[in-house]
Amino acid sequence: MTDNRPVALISGGSRGIGRATVLKLAADGYDISFCFRSQREAAEVLAKEAEVLGARVLHRGVDVTDAAAVRGWVAETEKDLGPIETAVTSAGITRDKALVMMSDDEWSSVLSTNLDGVFHVCRAVTFAMMKRRRGNIVNISSVAGVYGNATQTNYAASKAGINGFSRSLAKEVGRYGIRVNSVAPGFVDTDMVAAVSERVRGEALADVALGRMGTADEVAELVAFLASERAGYITGSVVQIDGGIAL
Ligand code: NAP
Repeated sequence: MTDNRPVALISGGSRGIGRATVLKLAADGYDISFCFRSQREAAEVLAKEAEVLGARVLHRGVDVTDAAAVRGWVAETEKDLGPIETAVTSAGITRDKALVMMSDDEWSSVLSTNLDGVFHVCRAVTFAMMKRRRGNIVNISSVAGVYGNATQTNYAASKAGINGFSRSLAKEVGRYGIRVNSVAPGFVDTDMVAAVSERVRGEALADVALGRMGTADEVAELVAFLASERAGYITGSVVQIDGGIAL
């Protein structure tokens, strides 16, 4: 354990892509602050795994739709671990439904978690990064936000929103040396996809050139690259990691 490890803050870190990112960044030498919504046990197991990799770890149950809770989590992270070098927003949900059947709640819960959540986290971390004139943000989007997907008007709108948000913020803060990118995964083997029926999964896989789902670890590798100095000239990009889903 050292005092000078950079700090990474990850929303939705308890499971899936967020979880893999926590472990990858801990292995790469970051201290870690992550949040989750409800699965405290999964979060505690993960925190221990990241500590074994040498990271100091702070984890909190924070709903990203709650702006005040996000501000509190970011402030606590800065106080306990130090300035945030990298923020990754992975918290996300789906509520798939044909548009004509979609309820107000199915629309607004997806928009508020996926898009307001990104707004809340990015707003809370950016001013301190501007003052330090360093830092970077990686927002997890989706290929659905690029190409659209039937029964996902809510989800695709939130993810297309993230892409526009990230590009705009990249333009806004580039002069402060801050980079902002989004990662757009295709079909990744996590709980989110496990909820989809086997038939739909089979149909989706038929469009993937590599013929398989991606893994959360593969996405975490890309996130870690974008967060690192190796990606020092990459900003405002929407980087797809999708096994060739739209070729
Ligand atoms: P997942 O396995 O379902 O994990 C979702 C994570 O987000 C969990 O840690 C969950 O916390 C957290 N979360 C959900 N709502 C939250 C809220 N309101 N506040 C705080 N945390 C919240 O999902 P995943 O597949 O890893 O997806 C991660 C991101 O990648 C999402 O943004 C998703 O849209 C995107 N993505 C996934 C795929 C894919 O195929 N899996 C493809 C493209 C994009 P709890 O554990 O406490 O519930």
